[in-house]
Amino acid sequence: MIGLGAMGTVLARLLLEKGKQVTVWNRSEEKARPLIAAGATYSGDIQAAVDANDIILICLTDYAVTDQVMQGVTMKGKTVVQLSTGTPQDARVMAGDYTARGAAYLDGAILATPSQMGTEQTPIFLSGSAAAYDTAGDALRILGGTLIYQGEAPGAASAWDLAALSTMFGMMIGFLNGARIMESEGMQVADLGSMIHNIAPVLGQMIKDTGDDIQQQRFEDPQSSIDICAGTFALMLRLAAENKLDKGFAGFAQQMFGKAQAAGFGQHRISAIIKTLR
Ligand code: NAP
Repeated sequence: MIGLGAMGTVLARLLLEKGKQVTVWNRSEEKARPLIAAGATYSGDIQAAVDANDIILICLTDYAVTDQVMQGVTMKGKTVVQLSTGTPQDARVMAGDYTARGAAYLDGAILATPSQMGTEQTPIFLSGSAAAYDTAGDALRILGGTLIYQGEAPGAASAWDLAALSTMFGMMIGFLNGARIMESEGMQVADLGSMIHNIAPVLGQMIKDTGDDIQQQRFEDPQSSIDICAGTFALMLRLAAENKLDKGFAGFAQQMFGKAQAAGFGQHRISAIIKTLR
């Protein structure tokens, strides 16, 4: 296990708890101490750490840091799983490099926080060498019970990860804007959170329907047209002026919808916004 930050430490601990033999490497040795006490072997020498194992899991800040750490390391015959977050291009470049160095390369993206690791539901997107997936699958299933292998193209896991994060953080920013609306009217933000939790399946269905619409090129005959939806943001901007709220979120959303209206999609479904993004 290379990298003992917030995530790497939890990954190493989960493997130890399942009785796996784990060698750990980290730039700052002190983070290894609790893991050594739990049965891990510490190696301050990265090459020795790699040599001592068949499966090499990496969880560092990013791919640039990984390049620095793994520079010059011999990895012939090893199965390397990169669990640091990056772009599809990062993954493609690393897959090419590590494959040329004789390793079987699997790219991974963890869609969970450290405290959510190790459950049946914990999702880890994976892509790259099928042989590496076969070799590392059992160990990875200890870290996250829901392995989503997306095939041999190394960039697929990080594309999935960033697309899912885009959806999640987009919603989160919308929620924070909604939280300010609640606060400014003297209402409880936690109640909004609970309400959204309760209707989450409905929101999920809306996302799914829009995804299906885009895939099947269904842009017309809306139940709720872009013009109708865009009206929401004019109201939100007026509310922001009235209650002295930040206008950033409403302004951004209005701009996205406005572009679609300007392109003539006002009477189309929300799915049509993708045409202006394209
Ligand atoms: P973190 O706590 O900041 O840990 C960063 C790790 O990278 C540490 O091991 C750190 O070593 C090492 N590092 C940084 N710069 C280095 C350098 N120049 N040379 C050598 N080592 C260096 O980050 P984290 O939360 O564990 O995240 C690690 C990866 O997992 C990231 O790609 C992140 O996006 C991904 N991830 C994290 C979460 C999460 O919720 N935390 C969720 C999903 C995915 P030192 O200990 O010596 O500083």
